[in-house]
Amino acid sequence: MLRALEPNGFYAFAGCILSCVAVDPFAEAEIRYKFLVEERRTGNLQPRSYRVAVRDLAVLDSEGRRWMLGPEDGIWYRRENERWLQADPPRRLVCASCGHHNLGRHSFCVECGQRLNR
Ligand SMILES: [Zn+2]
Repeated sequence: MLRALEPNGFYAFAGCILSCVAVDPFAEAEIRYKFLVEERRTGNLQPRSYRVAVRDLAVLDSEGRRWMLGPEDGIWYRRENERWLQADPPRRLVCASCGHHNLGRHSFCVECGQRLNR
């Protein structure tokens, strides 16, 4: 599905994000979202395809809850009791020293002890 929509640049772009930097799934979805918005703005992506692509950015968190970005507002919603509620996703902090993904409540990396940037 995505293959038909995306120009080659997307793969170079996404490939770099995925291999150059360890990002948390929410940050990754936000980066892809910005790309899709730009593609729609320039006319490379039709509105319907845009909405489908944004829906594909949905993230499951560590507790199995489903999150998605609003196609028009770019803010996060969490699925709860059959409704989408606006909410802040649980951020993971990536250690600059060793690349370990830490839970947002930690101030120091659980792997190497480096202080985490917020
Ligand atoms: Zn670390």
